[in-house]
Amino acid sequence: MRRNQVTIQKQIVTPSGEDEFAIRWIGDEGVGIVTTRSEQSYFVLDSKEFWYDLTQKRYPSRKKCACKNEYFKLWFDYVPRAGTEDFREIRINAECSTCCKLKKIGHVEIDYSPSAQLLEQAISYCKEPRIKYKTHSVEGFWQMQELQELVAFLAEKQLYMYRWYWGETEDKRFFERISPPELQHKLSPGSYLAVCFSAEPMDAFSENSAADGKGVYIDRNLWRSRELIWLDSPMVILGKTKRILYQMDFCSEYIDTDGKVQQKSEAFCRLTEEVLRYCKEHLSEKKAAKAEKCIDRARFFDLIMTVCDWDASGNDDKVLKPLIAHLANQSDEVIFAFDEIMAELLYALDTRQNFKIARKFDRKHSDDSFLYSRCVALINGEEYYQKVRSFAVVDLWGMEFEAILYVPALAWAKKHKKDPDSYPHVTAKSYETKSNTAGWKRS
Ligand SMILES: [Zn+2]
Repeated sequence: MRRNQVTIQKQIVTPSGEDEFAIRWIGDEGVGIVTTRSEQSYFVLDSKEFWYDLTQKRYPSRKKCACKNEYFKLWFDYVPRAGTEDFREIRINAECSTCCKLKKIGHVEIDYSPSAQLLEQAISYCKEPRIKYKTHSVEGFWQMQELQELVAFLAEKQLYMYRWYWGETEDKRFFERISPPELQHKLSPGSYLAVCFSAEPMDAFSENSAADGKGVYIDRNLWRSRELIWLDSPMVILGKTKRILYQMDFCSEYIDTDGKVQQKSEAFCRLTEEVLRYCKEHLSEKKAAKAEKCIDRARFFDLIMTVCDWDASGNDDKVLKPLIAHLANQSDEVIFAFDEIMAELLYALDTRQNFKIARKFDRKHSDDSFLYSRCVALINGEEYYQKVRSFAVVDLWGMEFEAILYVPALAWAKKHKKDPDSYPHVTAKSYETKSNTAGWKRS
């Protein structure tokens, strides 16, 4: 029996002998995918379990070296959990394949056992890294009565109801079945961490104890794989008046262990349709944080045209430096609004027709380079952007301006003195290529 003592370092090489990878990494989750030059993708460690759920809203971009190269040699450092066969932490290190500069990608904390297999299975083949499936998110500033009626409606559908909550006196989390009338009295903020409206019994979850010793822990992504509707803990939004934002998530599709999109049961699919219809007819319209949007499109283009250092053209990072500094002095709301507008503008250009035009301009266009070229539409003013939309200019498809994508995260990181990888905002629309499913429909 091996007793782990020292950190083991392992270089990552694919079964076919490739050892240079592009890296997509979700920093705060410790989940990622690496792709060889021959476009073969691999999940890092146990990322497969989480990757598809985490990439539905936002698909991470490739890591880049300061020298602009995107391919790295990879080493994983396996830190042992003393006296056991397990690992406590695995660190992901990269070396630029061009300039040899070292880069720390991140680390994965291992809180389960056995974990020895992660040394042999450092990466596992992934046929299709980018899979989208249909999810539904309904949110709004609902009134208590509306919410109580929603519970009554779901009770008619014979759903099992469970409340996951924090027990103040016991100082830990519980997960318990709850009757509809009881639930109707416990819907205010603070009375639950989440409510599950489930098609099947979930009693087994009440035994599921978290590693922190604070009772039951339920994964917030549970609704993606199981047949249930997830009502998240409501958010209190403080403004001129106090409002409470509720959110429900559910989906009729899921990704199976082979990485294929599957339908949930017919009964559950029918239920999701009925719930969607009910929400549309009975719940107050979504009036989310958008109303508080503090910069608009015109201001967005204005900032880019006037604040950036265009004398430094050619050095994208230098061009954007004053813009990052400017945003770092604003509230988080302004930084996030900048991000939202950027994502919306890029999303609108993410169409099959534009991709065709780009390909005509440069046959080598990939999903990534198409995104980086769309970025060029943002840096020459609003009029230029409109011309791109109406196909009046095409020169952008021969250029790239990827650096602008990182402006919100860099400004936020500068403001809070944190790592840009922990940037917390997820935009409503994703700017990644093929996110705009309507724009990619074959006509
Ligand atoms: Zn480099």
